[in-house]
Amino acid sequence: MTLTRLCAAAVSTVLVLGCISGCGSKAPPSGEAQPAAEAAASAKPAQGVTGERIAAVASEPEVWLSYGRGYDEQRYSPLDSINDANVEGLGLAWYYDLDYNRGQEATPLVVDGVLYTTGAWSVVYALDAVTGELLWKHDPAVPKQTAQQACCDVVNRGVALWQGKVFVGTLDGRLQALDAATGKLLWSVVTVDQSQAYTITGAPRVVKGKVLIGNGGAEFGVRGYLSAYDVNDGSLVWRFFTVPGDPAKPFESPAMEMAAKTWTGEWWNYGGGGTVWDSMAYDPELDLLYIGVGNGSPWNQKIRSPDGGDNLFLSSIVALKPDTGEYVWHYQTTPGETWDYTATQHIMLAELPIDGKPRKVLMQAPKNGFFYVLDRATGELLSAEPYVKITWATHVDMSTGRPVETENARYTAGPVTIFPANQGGHNWHPMSYSPKTGLVYIPAQEIPQGYGDVKDFIFRPGLLNVGIDPLLLQLPQDEPTKQAVLDMLKGYLLAWDPVQQKAAWRVEYPGAWNGGTLATAGNLVFQGTAMGDLMAYRADDGTALWRAPAGSGIVAAPITYSIDGEQYVTVLAGWGGAGPIVVGEIAKLEGRVGNVSRVLTFKLGGKATLPPGGIPADRRPEPPPATASPALVAVGEKLYYDYCFVCHGDNAVSGSTIPDLRYMDAATHQAFAGIVMGARADKGMPSFAKYTNIDEINAIHAYLTDRAHAELERLADSGSEPD
Ligand code: CA
Repeated sequence: MTLTRLCAAAVSTVLVLGCISGCGSKAPPSGEAQPAAEAAASAKPAQGVTGERIAAVASEPEVWLSYGRGYDEQRYSPLDSINDANVEGLGLAWYYDLDYNRGQEATPLVVDGVLYTTGAWSVVYALDAVTGELLWKHDPAVPKQTAQQACCDVVNRGVALWQGKVFVGTLDGRLQALDAATGKLLWSVVTVDQSQAYTITGAPRVVKGKVLIGNGGAEFGVRGYLSAYDVNDGSLVWRFFTVPGDPAKPFESPAMEMAAKTWTGEWWNYGGGGTVWDSMAYDPELDLLYIGVGNGSPWNQKIRSPDGGDNLFLSSIVALKPDTGEYVWHYQTTPGETWDYTATQHIMLAELPIDGKPRKVLMQAPKNGFFYVLDRATGELLSAEPYVKITWATHVDMSTGRPVETENARYTAGPVTIFPANQGGHNWHPMSYSPKTGLVYIPAQEIPQGYGDVKDFIFRPGLLNVGIDPLLLQLPQDEPTKQAVLDMLKGYLLAWDPVQQKAAWRVEYPGAWNGGTLATAGNLVFQGTAMGDLMAYRADDGTALWRAPAGSGIVAAPITYSIDGEQYVTVLAGWGGAGPIVVGEIAKLEGRVGNVSRVLTFKLGGKATLPPGGIPADRRPEPPPATASPALVAVGEKLYYDYCFVCHGDNAVSGSTIPDLRYMDAATHQAFAGIVMGARADKGMPSFAKYTNIDEINAIHAYLTDRAHAELERLADSGSEPD
């Protein structure tokens, strides 16, 4: 029995001391005498995680130290024990059931024999990386009411490690430091104004002793920024705002004064957006931190900045000095963004041969559909080409670095269908880069999206404020049009040559919103799918080599690590996040599996098996008689998109495990008004008492009753069981 396993057994009884003395790859074999204090000092897990080590991770294949494995965020592992010649022998080593069956987006970190991950609701888990046994768990007790302010499910993308500490950002905007050995809370700071609709879903990074964390909320009327906190005590070191505030007040930085010249109207009343909710990378040689900035709030620029302007730093990649947060350079992917085209997607650093010379570059495949290669010292645009179908712009003008927009892309002449959708040609799902093949592996997708001005926009802080006609955000109701949209929708694994700026190969999937990717030196690319499989492909040509059923759709990215010479591949299963909410009906139409959220770890010869079955079939809907007038149903539909759509899904079809409101039972229908007013707040259904009233609730209920009857008819027509 190894000490790691001993530790797992001991941790439940001796939580503080039990683990310190045993959890670590450097621990002596069981039975060998060693003074307790010395053992504690040498074996405390993650104690040795430093900036030097994260920067030099290429020379340390066994570990996964930071969100993208190292500061370059390449998500490439030099491990090759599992490779294209033997991957078919990969089997399940262990699994761990997470507490909440919701979207699971985290990338686990592994060091010293411990796997650190988060699950939904920002819960942190430390697992024995060999056995999957729980060492400790930290539940930050996020108030369930917070779900109301989260655009995209109650997800979390993982932790950061630094010198024996674990850092997590919680959905309600706190940043917490935990003891890596015990999970004990060391400090906790509130990083946002909790009276506004800020959320944290992204993984922190640690650079030069500072924990970096942004936030989300640009659909709800907030102003974005990134903060740096001292690792030791959580004191704020600096904060970089991404959009200017009220120009009547002093600007926080020269960068904000510059940015304010690119805005018009009274944008500060709407927050402006520009949240830094996911991507960061760091170059230790240049000492530059790169951040990805999100969309405008509201999306519709005509409301936000009515006389136009580029609206810096929306949809930009910004380089900062990590010591001070001082602005160095920026590149704006989508000037005057008006489509939710964030540049928060994965930022990756690499050295590429450009015009025959090695060049330090930064790569991004943001939502807007262009793949960008920048010189990361200066921000100079080196190339930009479409990696998916794009209809909002024809190309990027290399002399100006700006996209050339198509006619009516800004829906000034009426509603228009645009590629990519607000979900992007690529969303947060991490891509990976193999220096061996020279290819970037992108979880790409093609989704059409209707855009058009909303009539009589009213800004309501804390609620969805996109400024787009809500009817255009949903699937068309008539069957032929709906089917036509579904036929256009694609998802694929795209192997992209960033030097040639063209596809090397691609594998098409039945639908969008598939998982992040992992590239390894074993000539392999791993990716989980929305359909519920973990796949392995040959990295050089895309041949499918292996698949394992995950019991749930996958959106997270896999990782790999090695302990005692054995290589493992781990991924979180649990389909959710923004995709199933916005394209919920698409999810169900394609017959995807349910969500059973788990950590799954594979190794060669692994013999573990998952329990049978997924989520039991739902009951049939039990709606009351449909007596409401079509006019009331129509009013209710509009209100549904104001209040409910963001969690319960398009057309009231929930593709995730958030309740499908068409399937409410008789008792839930009876209690509907009370539930909206907060009767189930402790179960995660927030109270809308301060936003709505009984007349509005009755209208919403009429709409949902109508949808439930439509579902009953569909079931009767198809003869199928409820899905
Ligand atoms: Ca957004």
